[in-house]
Amino acid sequence: MASLSAAISRSSCFPPPNTTSLSNHRNIFHSQCRAFPLSRPSLFLRKGLTLPPGRESTSTRISASVADVSLNLSVEEKQLPKGDTWSVHKFGGTCVGTSQRIKNVAEIIIKDESERKLVVVSAMSKVTDMMYDLINKAQSRDENYVAALDVVLEKHSQTAHDLLDGDHLASFLSQLHQDINNLKAMLRAIYIAGHATESFTDFVVGHGELWSAQMLSLVIRKNGIDSKWMDTREVLIVNPTGSNQVDPDYSLSQQRLEKWYSRNPARVIIATGFIASTPQNIPTTLKRDGSDFSAAIMGALFQARQVTIWTDVDGVFSADPRKVSEAVILKTLSYQEAWEMSYFGANVLHPRTIIPVMRYGIPIIIRNIFNLSAPGTKICHPSVNEDEDKQNLQNFVKGFATIDNLALVNVEGTGMAGVPGTASAIFGAVKDVGANVIMISQASSEHSVCFAVPETEVKAVAEALQSRFRQALDAGRLSQVAVIPNCSILAAVGQKMASTPGVSATLFNALAKASINVRAIAQGCSEYNITVVIKREDCIKALRAVHSRFYLSRTTIAMGIIGPGLIGSTLLDQLRDQASVLKEEFNIDLRVLGIISSKSMLLTHYNGWLRKGIHVVTPNKKANSGPLDQYLSLRALQRQSYTHYFYEATVGAGLPIISTLRGLLETGDRILQIEGIFSGTLSYIFNNFKDGRAFSEVVAEAKEAGYTEPDPRDDLSGMDVARKVIILARESGLKLELSDIPVESLVPEPLRGCASAQEFMQQLPKFDQELTKKQEEAEKAGEVLRYVGVVDVTNKKGTVELRRYKKDHPFAHLSGSDNIIAFTTRRYQNQPLIVRGPGAGAQVTAGGIFCDILRLASYLGAPS
Ligand code: ADP
Ligand code: ASP
Ligand code: MG
Repeated sequence: MASLSAAISRSSCFPPPNTTSLSNHRNIFHSQCRAFPLSRPSLFLRKGLTLPPGRESTSTRISASVADVSLNLSVEEKQLPKGDTWSVHKFGGTCVGTSQRIKNVAEIIIKDESERKLVVVSAMSKVTDMMYDLINKAQSRDENYVAALDVVLEKHSQTAHDLLDGDHLASFLSQLHQDINNLKAMLRAIYIAGHATESFTDFVVGHGELWSAQMLSLVIRKNGIDSKWMDTREVLIVNPTGSNQVDPDYSLSQQRLEKWYSRNPARVIIATGFIASTPQNIPTTLKRDGSDFSAAIMGALFQARQVTIWTDVDGVFSADPRKVSEAVILKTLSYQEAWEMSYFGANVLHPRTIIPVMRYGIPIIIRNIFNLSAPGTKICHPSVNEDEDKQNLQNFVKGFATIDNLALVNVEGTGMAGVPGTASAIFGAVKDVGANVIMISQASSEHSVCFAVPETEVKAVAEALQSRFRQALDAGRLSQVAVIPNCSILAAVGQKMASTPGVSATLFNALAKASINVRAIAQGCSEYNITVVIKREDCIKALRAVHSRFYLSRTTIAMGIIGPGLIGSTLLDQLRDQASVLKEEFNIDLRVLGIISSKSMLLTHYNGWLRKGIHVVTPNKKANSGPLDQYLSLRALQRQSYTHYFYEATVGAGLPIISTLRGLLETGDRILQIEGIFSGTLSYIFNNFKDGRAFSEVVAEAKEAGYTEPDPRDDLSGMDVARKVIILARESGLKLELSDIPVESLVPEPLRGCASAQEFMQQLPKFDQELTKKQEEAEKAGEVLRYVGVVDVTNKKGTVELRRYKKDHPFAHLSGSDNIIAFTTRRYQNQPLIVRGPGAGAQVTAGGIFCDILRLASYLGAPS
């Protein structure tokens, strides 16, 4: 991907004011406060000013004594006081969604002990959508707008009846009916014209806030507290920017606010969120979800002590809680972090909320109206201590957010290199169609510029670029303007993360491990975010993968178990017994999420799983000992898909055979030969085939003891050993097929066709003689018979056969059903490296699988 090497992100276009200038603002604020001609200078001594030791109590006293005087409405009183005396609250749509909730909101406001309170409210939940729907219906000449308006009327009238009575109710209802009549007339005009202008639309949709603010204010009055409601269209003046955004005009708004306050000098003000006016007094809005922004502007105009944003979650989560169930609440965020989170899709906060309050260092607290005991998230300047606390990667990454429904546009061509003005021409064309560029990335070769825009805007963007660059495209200086649809952005956000070694590596590693392809990358020079563009369908998987990598202190592995037979159920027992130890002592959280029983193990499924990023751990030999081309493609796929495929238990059950071999190979040793007793059954049989006993008798004894397969021919044929030989041969780099391995079968030729195991066992004594002879010959020579598999790496061969070993050879001293494997290598040439131990049985096999699962956990980042 050409665009990887150097990248810029959209975030760098908005350099946040640096700390120096911020603290300057704070100082200006204090000096302004001190100079402010108010009857209550003590209000401003409360915070921020450094008093000599012992003076604090004086300031508190002054504050208390002046509070009594303030009840008289003097001329000064009508002048707008500013500063810490004000606390600003904003209640989102869900907070005022029903009459009961509006009562709760009133209670919270009343309980707040701040001296002055400015409360910004959204429309009741869903109302703004309903208002937009009215516009859509009217302009598409759907008469149902009339009925839909009735529903809006009914909803508010019902709520008012629940909340108010007497004069309050009457005055609200009279205003409501008047508004509805006006809306009806306006919608009728829209219906006739078949079109709504932007200001008509803004006028209509803002009514939800007008009604909720009036109702809330009346409920507070009903509780005996003087409160005024503010139609913020009279106060908040904004200029449209042309890209579905508005910029506040602070000085005009300040003048209007002072004027408004002189007429309404209340200590509790309930203001409408979302709505404002242009300097020409035309109603407008701060656009969807804009009430957070309203609250922040108000906070700045009043230079409030803090702005509390009340919503329906406990604060800002490390990721959207609807998408990542394990997201955690962030106690604090810096302004920049909060900005980045919201810009990149965390809709708990409108992105424009930060700048107004950051100018004055006013903290924002996000709190849950439905869970008052939760302290919420505080957004403020990072404290010095917090910086010192940051020792590990998690602390650098605060959260993750995503934006869906994007398309990437890639403008590519050799003619772009070194030509000044290309980027400006590209983004000029994009601006002309009014599209919003969310992220930009340019390769340092200047060969391509790629950027993300909302999917709805990409067609217009592509057309504009095609026409703007027609000549360059025709001349071949530009090769293409390509659109990659169905993309999402995933942003990791955190103070200083981009300059901390290891953060981006960990992020990309987590994505790779989840098999997620990254289409484009941008890392903000601001160092607050790393942004990647991925396929939309991968978005949630990617979000969960990176979140769990950074945020969960544990490595969590979700498992499915296929085939809960004897080994599977033993594994489940072992997992259950060990789970809490793994969690507490090793930080690994293994979760069995599914168990599927399956009669036939469909090995071709491995490829499908690996391709999907699912790791495979198996004790089943078939895939690795099947046709060579299938095996090689499985391994290739596993590497490409960055997944893991572990199969230690295929050879020697729980014994570390594959891992030993890998260790030797990876550290540069050369394998010369692997020789071993790989069958627990045949080990048992030959360990006991001595002292004049008949071979058939030992086989019968082994069968009786449960050491053999139900039909002992499956063991005696040697095929199981041959499969293990093939697995080890391939692991050592030999390209052998199972048919390349000569296998000495211990099943006498005439008995291979016996219909049943029983018949075979009956006939077997007739054939004892041949093996008895071999055994006696060996005995005479001071040797023993052993059934072994051999991988002769030097000669690229494998074999399974009966061999004789001196009585002092390690193979001669086995007991029970032990396996023994000898690795002869360049390093272990004179004395082979030997692994020995029980190589069959449910406990040790399940243990081998368990070991692979933990190996997987460590590959996936579990602490070692
Ligand atoms: P309100 O109407 O109060 O303004 P919003 O719906 O605009 O509420 O914002 C709150 C919602 O934001 C939450 O319900 C939550 O689902 C969503 N959300 C998305 N990302 C995050 C995040 N990182 N942290 C918290 N909430 C988030
Ligand atoms: N009511 C407006 C909206 O739904 C503004 C807000 O609630 O923030 O978009
Ligand atoms: Mg909101």
